[in-house]
Amino acid sequence: MNMNEMNLHKELKKYFGFDKFKGEQEKVIYSLLSGNDTFVLMPTGGGKSLTYQLPALMSEGVAIIVSPLIALMKNQVDSIRGISENKGIAHVLNSSLNKGETERVKSDIKNGVTKLLYVAPESLTKDENVEFFRSVKLSFFAIDEAHCISEWGHDFRPEYRNLRAIISKIGGNTPIIALTATATPKVQEDIQKTLGMNNATVFKASFNRANLFYEIRPKVNVNKELIKFAKQNEGKSGIVYCLSRKKVEEIAQMLQVNGINALPYHAGLDAKTRAKHQDNFLMEDVDVIVATIAFGMGIDKPDVRYVIHHDMPKSLESYYQETGRAGRDGGEGHCISFYAYKDIEKLEKFLVGKPIAEMEVGNALLQEVVSYAETSISRRKFLLHYFGEEFDEVNGDGADMDDNTRNPKPKSEAGKDVKILLDVIKATNQKFKAKEIVFALEGKTNALISTHKTDQKDFFGIGTHKPDKFWMAALRQVMVAGLIKKDIETYGVVKLTEKGEDFIASPKSFMIIEDHNYDNIEEEEKAISAAQKGGATGFDKQLFKELKELRKKVAKQKEVPPFAIFQDPSLEDMALQYPITLDEMKNIFGVGEGKAKKYGKKFIDSISKYVDDNNITRPDDLVIKTLANKSTNKVYIIQKTDQKFPLTDIAKDKSLSVEELLLQMEAIINSGTKININYEIDSILDEDQQDEIYEYFMEAETDAIENAVEEFDGEYTDEEIRMMRIRFMSEVAN
Ligand code: ADP
Ligand code: MG
Repeated sequence: MNMNEMNLHKELKKYFGFDKFKGEQEKVIYSLLSGNDTFVLMPTGGGKSLTYQLPALMSEGVAIIVSPLIALMKNQVDSIRGISENKGIAHVLNSSLNKGETERVKSDIKNGVTKLLYVAPESLTKDENVEFFRSVKLSFFAIDEAHCISEWGHDFRPEYRNLRAIISKIGGNTPIIALTATATPKVQEDIQKTLGMNNATVFKASFNRANLFYEIRPKVNVNKELIKFAKQNEGKSGIVYCLSRKKVEEIAQMLQVNGINALPYHAGLDAKTRAKHQDNFLMEDVDVIVATIAFGMGIDKPDVRYVIHHDMPKSLESYYQETGRAGRDGGEGHCISFYAYKDIEKLEKFLVGKPIAEMEVGNALLQEVVSYAETSISRRKFLLHYFGEEFDEVNGDGADMDDNTRNPKPKSEAGKDVKILLDVIKATNQKFKAKEIVFALEGKTNALISTHKTDQKDFFGIGTHKPDKFWMAALRQVMVAGLIKKDIETYGVVKLTEKGEDFIASPKSFMIIEDHNYDNIEEEEKAISAAQKGGATGFDKQLFKELKELRKKVAKQKEVPPFAIFQDPSLEDMALQYPITLDEMKNIFGVGEGKAKKYGKKFIDSISKYVDDNNITRPDDLVIKTLANKSTNKVYIIQKTDQKFPLTDIAKDKSLSVEELLLQMEAIINSGTKININYEIDSILDEDQQDEIYEYFMEAETDAIENAVEEFDGEYTDEEIRMMRIRFMSEVAN
C-alpha cells in the first residue's frame, strides 16, 4: 500500500469504531507499516494492542503475535473476531489444539484469511511450526509484554529469551514491534538488545498517572487502618494486595467480620470461586477484593477508587502496575502502601537459594522499593525518575498528589555535602554502587572497600559528621536531580553525569530533605498490641455484673438458656468497649450481625444508661473485631454444610481433624451465624437421642461439653454432644 494514500483514521473507524487515535498510536502504526522495527513503551491501558491489530488487519499476510498468557490471547482473539464476519481472521495456535483444529488454523493462514495469529513463545519454537511459518507470507512480528524478555522485568520468562533466534529462522527481515508497560531504562535496553532491534524507532509515552494519589504509611496497626479506610470509602471499589494467599484469606475475613463487604482472590481458590469473586467485584456486589497479584491482569474495571498494598511489592514496576489499577477512568485513585523494613527482609529471604544472578537482581529491585518508601521527596518525581522520566515537582501534572508533597519535611542546604559526595564518587573511579559510596563516606568497610583499598584513602570517613542515613538520602536525591545515574550495563554502579561534573566544577546550592525514618516502628507496634491485650482483662466489673443480670432476664423471657444469648467473653468485651450503637455491638467479640440484631438492642440501651449515669469516657477509637483464629474457614464451612457435605470431607479438604472442624463451627455459631448440620446428626443419632440432648441444653446452666458428657454418663461421645450443641445454638441462639 502506498503510505500517502493510507487513511488510518478511516481504517480505525472501520475496524474499531473509534474516531481518534490515543496518544502516539498513529505514529506507531505508520512506523510499523513503513517496515521499521518499532518499540512501544506505554503504560497499561495506553492502547498498545491496537498499534499492531490495526496494521495487521490492513496488511497482506499474517502477523504473528507473541504473548505470554493464553487467557490474554483468547481475550484479544474474541474481540477481534467480534469486528469481523470471518472467525478465521484471528486464531490462537497452541498445544491445546487437537490435530483437526491445528489444520484448520493453518489452512486459514494459507488461504490468507487469518490476519492475526497469537502464539505462545514455546509454540513458536516447534520445528513443524517454524517450517510452516517459513512457507507463508508474514506481515510482521509483534512481541507483546516484551519485558518478559528481561530478568530485570517483573515477569521474566525464559522462553522469551530465544525469540530473536526463532524470528531470524522464520523470516529474517520481517519487521518487529515490541510492546511493554515496563519502562525502566535497564529493561528497555535488555529488550532492544535481546530482540536485536537497536535501530528500532522508539515511542515512549509518559508514565505519569496524574490522578493517582501516592501514599506510604508505616505498617502500624494496619488492620485498623484498613478497616477505617474501607469504612470511610464504603460503596467505592478498592483492591487490597497482600503477598501471600494466607494473608489474603486472613485480611478478607478480618474485613468481613468488621462489616466490610470484601472477598478474597488468589490462585489457590478454585476457578469457579475466583470467577465468581471477580464478577462480584466487577458488578459491584462487593466493594473490596483482597488479592494476591494473581488479581488484576486483564481486569479492566475503570472506577477502582483505591489500591492498598498491605505488604510492599517486590519491585517498583509491580508497585506501578498494581497501583495503576486505580482510577483508570481518570477519577480519584488513592494508593496507600504499608511499609515496614521487616517485610523487605522477608522478601529478601525468599531470594535466598535462587541463582546468584536472580538474587542480585531481586535485591537491587527491593532496594529501589526501600528508597521509594523512605524518601521524603515528591513520590511522583521519584517514581517517574525510576522509569527514566523527568518530572517537574512544582508545575507537573499531579504535582501535589502524594503524601510527601502535601506534608513536606523541612529542607536544608547541603551544597557543600553534595560536593563531597560527588568528589568521593569521582575519587573512587566511579566503580561503586550506592552502598559502598555511602560506606566510604561514613568510614565503614566491607570486602569491596578493602579490596579497592578505599579505606586507606584520606577521604575515607570524610562524612562522619553527618547523622545516620544522611548520605544515602543525599545520594538518592542527587540521583533524582540527575547529577549522578546508575549505570545500565552494570546495574547499580553509580556514575557522574555531565550535570554532576558541572557541579563539581562550580558547586551550587542543593536543598536536601531528610528521609523518613521508620526504624522504630516495630517496637511501637508491639507496645500497642501489648496494651490492647492487657486491656482485655481490665473490663468494667460492675457493668459486667449488670449485663449478666440483664442476660438472665432476657433468657427467661425468650425461654432459652443465658449462654444462648451472649457468651461470657462477649459480655466481658462489652464491659470493655461500651458499645452503644448496633454497629459497635457488631464489633464485640463473638457478636455477629445476626446476634447484634436479635439481642443487641436491650444491651445497648443498658450500656448507654450505664455510661451516662457513671460519666464514662468510652474508647472513641475504632474498635476492631478480631477474628477468632478458629473460624478462618468460615465461608468455606458454611458453603459446604449448605451443600450437605459430610463433615469428614470438609475437615479433610481443610486438613483439619473433625474435632478441629467442630471447634471452628462453634466459633462461627458463637458470632451469630447459623450452621445447619442436621443432615449429619440425623445419620448418627435417632430422634429420641437428639431430643434428649436438646432438652438438656435448654435446661442447662452452662453449655460446657464436659458437663453434658457427664450428665449422660458417657452415653454420648464428645463429638456427638458437640454437634448437638452446634445445632442447639444455631436454632436457639442465632
Ligand atoms: P494496553 O495493552 O496498552 O494496556 P489496550 O490495548 O488493552 O492497552 O487498550 C486499553 C483500552 O483502550 C482498550 O479498552 C481499548 O479498546 C481502548 N482504546 C485503544 N485505542 C483507543 C482509541 N484510539 N480510542 C478509544 N479507545 C481506545
Ligand atoms: Mg496489552
